[in-house]
Amino acid sequence: MAPGVLQHAFASNTLPPFDATWVTLVHDAGRAVIIDPGFREPADADALLAWAARHGVGDVDRILLTHTHRDHVAGVPALLDRLGDVPVHVHPLEADRVPGDGRIIPTSGERTLVLGNATIRTLHTPGHALGHLAFEVTHGTGEPPGIVAGDLLTGKGGTWVGLPEGDVRAYVASVGAVRDRNPAWLAVAHGPAVEAPRPALDAVLAHRASRERSLLEAAGVPRSLDALLDAVYGEVAEEVRPWVRAALLANLVPLLRERKVQLLGEDENGPYQRTP
Ligand SMILES: [Zn+2]
Repeated sequence: MAPGVLQHAFASNTLPPFDATWVTLVHDAGRAVIIDPGFREPADADALLAWAARHGVGDVDRILLTHTHRDHVAGVPALLDRLGDVPVHVHPLEADRVPGDGRIIPTSGERTLVLGNATIRTLHTPGHALGHLAFEVTHGTGEPPGIVAGDLLTGKGGTWVGLPEGDVRAYVASVGAVRDRNPAWLAVAHGPAVEAPRPALDAVLAHRASRERSLLEAAGVPRSLDALLDAVYGEVAEEVRPWVRAALLANLVPLLRERKVQLLGEDENGPYQRTP
């Protein structure tokens, strides 16, 4: 994807349509960091380190986590078994959610980590998760920086933002902030790297805006949560319906807060109606 930035997909417990997490290796001058070792099988820690060694990596200095959903952290204990006492960087809001007993370094946004001649800058990008981080990599070669974006988006576009943790307004702000940094490349955790970052990020923002418009339109008449879901999302497979409900609720929360939509019923099932 860029000099010193590689990805390898490993099977993980993630959300459809994906079944793998793309683990990122950033290396320079023989030193490396591993980002989001979310693989399911402990033995994949060996495969991951063998892959790194094939690329000339001698030492892994650190593990970085974009956030602590299981498909990003499940492999941490197995990896620490092999690597020993390397620090694990995670946002302070999620520091207590890392499996295993690694040396946790709470790391908020706007920190700079040095890796050989390269630098990695942490960006707090909440929305999908409270403590979501993205990592901006500036190469030792002087090439323009790119961003390892975790679940800020996927290879297929926007990501899942759902209750209880998801915050749609924060998510849109994070996508906008990453877009404004104009990354030369964008690595994501599900799907191959995004080829044209800026148009892809613009498309995510446009999609979010249009989703909100259709939600407001559908709420023109009182509708239950399930009826809104059908109106806004159309046909949804039964096994993903709970996730879509959580996403719909995350979209409703700011609209309720901003009094653009009213809750007419007693609980989250609605009905809801657009404020006249
Ligand atoms: Zn996630």
